[in-house]
Amino acid sequence: MKIIDGHIHIGKWSGVFLDYATTVSDAVKVMKDSGIDSAVALPCDTFMNEELLNEIKSQKEFTFHFACWINPDDEKLDSFIEKNLKDIKAFKIHPSFQKKRVTDKAYAKYLDIAEENNFPVIVHCGRWQEIAGFEYPIEAAKKRKKLNVIIAHLGGDQPSLCTSCAAAVKESGLKNVYLGTESVREFHFVNQVVKTVGADRVIFGSDYNLGLPKMYIPVIESLNISSEEKELIFHRNISRLLGVE
Ligand SMILES: [Zn+2]
Repeated sequence: MKIIDGHIHIGKWSGVFLDYATTVSDAVKVMKDSGIDSAVALPCDTFMNEELLNEIKSQKEFTFHFACWINPDDEKLDSFIEKNLKDIKAFKIHPSFQKKRVTDKAYAKYLDIAEENNFPVIVHCGRWQEIAGFEYPIEAAKKRKKLNVIIAHLGGDQPSLCTSCAAAVKESGLKNVYLGTESVREFHFVNQVVKTVGADRVIFGSDYNLGLPKMYIPVIESLNISSEEKELIFHRNISRLLGVE
């Protein structure tokens, strides 16, 4: 089955992950070894958009879909986006690192750009509910019906958060909200999430270079759904959002 990894990191982390760094060729090797066809590549929290994009473009061994890390305090960000609009496939927003909710006004102009250019916006969600709670990306998607939002880590990488996020997405009735499976290992609850929101809302991701695709592919394979539904999760949903079908 074709697999697109919807969420991988390449580059260098800050002290949060002890300055750990990996290269594009490391990623190529792991992706190929894991049977991944292509991957959405995000930088790490050192915001090295330009370096990552250049390295991705200069190799021909593997297809990466570049996701630009949106740090509103980065003075070079606006000119980078303007210059590289045609090579950007998605935006990544990390409320916890930036200490700003996705609904903060600092992000508004970037959400405008994403809407205008059809870039899905991957929003990190975590246990810091006040800032990185899944309610905020849902709120953003409610206000912007043309914006596709991918809520990362199924809303917070914890069974209680994942299942309540799925319930909230279902209740919202929104068609522009998706859930990324990266880093969620509790397969029983991933199954519950998929049953709640439907396979057409769920996108596979590994969170490489922190996780490995081989750790998370079995989670999707184990789901109690049809193989057509697994195809949606493994590649069809994200291909449609990226416009790479
Ligand atoms: Zn991540």
